[in-house]
Amino acid sequence: MQKHIPLRQCAGCGEMKGKSQLFRIVCVKNVDLSHTFMLDKSIKAQGRGVYICKSEECISKAEKSKRFKRFLGAEAQSICAQLKNELNDRE
Ligand SMILES: [Zn+2]
Repeated sequence: MQKHIPLRQCAGCGEMKGKSQLFRIVCVKNVDLSHTFMLDKSIKAQGRGVYICKSEECISKAEKSKRFKRFLGAEAQSICAQLKNELNDRE
């Protein structure tokens, strides 16, 4: 029997993938009740999160998705820019 791999849905293409193939953006609550969005590299941070494939195409798609925008609000663009930088760094 195959080991169960928890799958998460990409906010770009909508496909279910393993966590290692995805970026995770997490919404972290601050003490003053404001919140910060960050790229969760450990994939272990607490809080509500959204997942995106590690591909420029999916990042661009997610950037345009309503669900993603609702989650990230005004920060959607800067987060996407951050993800794209992250991709370029890996090459
Ligand atoms: Zn995707």
